[in-house]
Amino acid sequence: MLTFLPQLAIGVVDLVAVFLFMFGLQRMSSPVTAPSGIQVAGVGMLVAVLASFLYAFNVEAEAKPFLPINIALAVAALVLGGGLAWWVGRKVAMTAMPQMVAIYNGMGGGAAGAIAAVELFGAKTHGTTQLVVTLLGALIGAISFSGSLIAWAKLDGVIGKAFRINGQQALNLVFILACVGVGGYIVYAAQDGAHPFISMRALICLFFGLALVFGILMTLPIGGADMPVVISIYNAFTGLAVGLQGFVLQNPALMIAGMVVGAAGMLLTMLMAKAMNRSVTNVLFTNFGELVRHRPGDVKGSLRPVEASDAGIFMRYAKEVIVVPGYGLAVAQGQQKLYELVKLLQAAGVTVKFAIHPVAGRMPGQMDVLLAEAGVPYDMIFQLEDINDEFANADVALVIGANDVVNPAARTDKSSPIFGMPILNADRAKQVYVVKRGQGKGYAGIINALFYADNCNMVYGDAAAVLTKMIEAVRGLGSKAAA
Ligand code: NAP
Repeated sequence: MLTFLPQLAIGVVDLVAVFLFMFGLQRMSSPVTAPSGIQVAGVGMLVAVLASFLYAFNVEAEAKPFLPINIALAVAALVLGGGLAWWVGRKVAMTAMPQMVAIYNGMGGGAAGAIAAVELFGAKTHGTTQLVVTLLGALIGAISFSGSLIAWAKLDGVIGKAFRINGQQALNLVFILACVGVGGYIVYAAQDGAHPFISMRALICLFFGLALVFGILMTLPIGGADMPVVISIYNAFTGLAVGLQGFVLQNPALMIAGMVVGAAGMLLTMLMAKAMNRSVTNVLFTNFGELVRHRPGDVKGSLRPVEASDAGIFMRYAKEVIVVPGYGLAVAQGQQKLYELVKLLQAAGVTVKFAIHPVAGRMPGQMDVLLAEAGVPYDMIFQLEDINDEFANADVALVIGANDVVNPAARTDKSSPIFGMPILNADRAKQVYVVKRGQGKGYAGIINALFYADNCNMVYGDAAAVLTKMIEAVRGLGSKAAA
């Protein structure tokens, strides 16, 4: 009875945790319910962590003397890790979010790898199936750990460029095959009566070493700008590794949470690749992010700059303005100013809508989060397919810090790297204002013909500074009218 009760309690609490994960994830599918979804899933995680302490009631007799010290170590790790995550999470800038996600993925993969290492190095006897699953989890976890660290270093600018050598793919293949080979040899060496030519410990160390190096080699050649997709892949890997270790530890909450993360990460990866009109293999095996596809002379026309105040006044007298936010808005942290301007325009009777491209910014949902941060109501925010036809009726498209997501080359230029990517039809508005600092290219590194179009004017400057000037101009009109 005494041993049965903790088992039952673990089962029930795990079930509650899994339900909370699923429910939280379901709520994350809409920006309206996403904040509460994150809270629900967070409570699920807390429940799962607390439930893991129930396993202490079931330890074998010889492990009992170590129980207090193990529990103390677990609590210390939780306080340290949780405290650090809380502190970093509070102070991280919105534009640095992808780096943070990369680090957390790496930690997840590393944790799965560490669990596998404890199991493999431990003296416990494994059945073949359990050993294979442990090794698989160790492989994926270790690759995810070292690969995510490289992804973080690239996004953070610690590693500045892609490292690519001749025969890179062949080298990667050699490493992964060697790793799988060593894994297979470990399974053989664990059989009764086997006589491995080196010790089991040495084999396990070699296995981890090869997997870690493979993670590094696989990630180093990928261009920095492709890292968000790579992070998403590692997110899926981490989930898978954790799920496999859940199987090894016979922990249902870990198993299901890992699989859910793995599936969600894979879906996200595919959605991002689709929205960029690329395949996942194309992201992994080409160095797209490093190429500059600037072909001088293939765009006709000239750039026509205007003052921010003139653009502001023009919008004040427009009937409908559609705002297209992009990565530059996040860099400038101009979202509050943008909403301030929008409220002034609305007060003057202008209809204002926001058009969001699925891959605007540098991570999925970044623009939604940015606008939510500024308090923009959700009913003003429209996804590409819901608003694209409306640009033709709009008086103004205000493109602010966006570039690739409004590049008409995606529709017409078969040689363009973004050909086939759905874009926002900003060019079809009667007047387009593009706010950017200078001649900088977007993520794809290509010229944007929209900027040279007859209906387009450039408003140069940092997005936040330009918006401040627009606000002053619109306010000035209001006070003149009152006077
Ligand atoms: P973008 O094409 O990268 O263009 C951003 C523009 O913002 C640049 O042209 C830059 O020009 C301008 N800018 C930068 N800082 C600024 C500031 N402080 N003030 C004003 N302007 C500033 O951005 P996007 O249109 O949002 O497109 C996103 C791109 O990222 C797509 O190609 C997408 O495929 C890719 N991507 C997205 C994701 C995702 O999940 N969202 C993931 C991976 C890749 P200046 O330097 O001249 O100012």
